[in-house]
Amino acid sequence: MNQDTKSSRRRFLQHSLMGTAGLGIGIASTSEVRARPVANAHEPEISEQFDVLVVGGGTAGAIAAIQAGRAGASVLIVERGAQLGGTTTTGGVAFPGLFDAWGKQIIAGIGWELVKESVELDDGNFPDFSRVPQRHWHNQVYTNQFLYAILAEEKCEQAGVRIAYHEFPQAVTETDDGWQVDCVGFGTKRRVHCRQIIDCTGGAEVVGLIGFERMREDETQPGSYLYMLGQAHEPGRNQIHRLYVHGADSTNSRTVTQANLTGRKSILEQVRSRGGRLMHLQPETGFRESYRIVGETIITVNDYRSGRKFEDAVANAFYPVDLHTRDGVRPEPLPRGHVPTIPLRALIPKGSRNLMVAGRSLSSDRLANSGLRVQAPCMAMGQAAAATAVLAVRANTTPLEVPLGDIHDLLREHGAIIPGEE
Ligand SMILES: Cc1cc2nc3c(=O)[nH]c(=O)nc-3n(C[C@H](O)[C@H](O)[C@H](O)COP(=O)(O)OP(=O)(O)OC[C@H]3O[C@@H](n4cnc5c(N)ncnc54)[C@H](O)[C@@H]3O)c2cc1C
Repeated sequence: MNQDTKSSRRRFLQHSLMGTAGLGIGIASTSEVRARPVANAHEPEISEQFDVLVVGGGTAGAIAAIQAGRAGASVLIVERGAQLGGTTTTGGVAFPGLFDAWGKQIIAGIGWELVKESVELDDGNFPDFSRVPQRHWHNQVYTNQFLYAILAEEKCEQAGVRIAYHEFPQAVTETDDGWQVDCVGFGTKRRVHCRQIIDCTGGAEVVGLIGFERMREDETQPGSYLYMLGQAHEPGRNQIHRLYVHGADSTNSRTVTQANLTGRKSILEQVRSRGGRLMHLQPETGFRESYRIVGETIITVNDYRSGRKFEDAVANAFYPVDLHTRDGVRPEPLPRGHVPTIPLRALIPKGSRNLMVAGRSLSSDRLANSGLRVQAPCMAMGQAAAATAVLAVRANTTPLEVPLGDIHDLLREHGAIIPGEE
């Protein structure tokens, strides 16, 4: 507060106090309050142009934005939450897997760079990828979620990516050379013109808004709320707990609110009944399953289990088939030596132009998706979709028409592992 403001505030208080003291009533008298005009909450309208718009700054989206920026595109990333990382950070699932399969690394690139830096800065440990673990989760990489989120922001900034938090698209219109996307946030109304959209919302929200086909079964996997119960003076005994939130649905603010209320209420019951101290609580439920696109190719569980090498493969994936139900989960490991791949066409909504998805909403049947949805493949998809989108912008064409060799070259240049080159 500067001196002028301080002294006028003091004068105001003195005046008010003197004026009201004799009456024995409260401090402020209404005659002293000057109403100031408030700007319209939705002004000014911002209108901007970008090569690539990434919607959703989560596991896949943050990597997509960094890749597109590093490859020279102008990029805006719109995230409805308050930080990057999505399920990896806000959901607290900070143990990404799997970057390796059968004794070697199969996914690298920008996702791995970010995970590695987060672990190193935190003085953490890396699994030994040259060893095939007894349980798949032994090779997940325990990462500091807070550092991960901040490092992702730093990498966006270095790549020239603009970040817009607390915003989401409200309307999308196709134009001659791409899209017009109207986004809203509190006090913000932003019109974006862009050539390519990468939908990384985890539920193909933009794809749904435009009207391309999506799929989702009546029953979805439970979400989980992550929290830590422990003893303040015995940090060694602190333990992360995951509480299933059945019926958790990430598709709209009402159902997300319901999942969070249900999750937090149950955690309060746990604290009361167990008597531990609540040391940490994620701000939101982690959602395992939502809408998936109907893409140019749909990955089936047979493709996944057999480690099918798609001819347009842009990334590897590796994880057991891992469907959570009311009764828990029984991961089904992949047959020895099998490494599934992700085809470019599973990232492109059927019949679309200038639109891709990356992350758990890729085109796949439910069982294949239960393995493909994990973090390392989501990061690899983000990088592959962004490389394709940038090349499409450069050549003034659509993602489907970009030559696969060019996509692989750009991905190699940015440290990714191309399927078959592990
Ligand atoms: C409880 C749980 C445990 C898991 N365990 C593991 C594990 O051990 N290992 C592993 O590798 N994976 C695990 N997974 C899976 C993995 O974490 C997720 O599937 C993956 O992170 C999804 O990445 P994504 O980029 O598709 O979505 P997210 O990371 O969820 O990102 C989506 C982002 O989009 C934003 N968004 C959504 N809609 C909009 C909109 N309309 N406008 C703007 N922004 C929007 C969201 O706020 C979010 O930031 C687990 C998942 C859960 C829930």
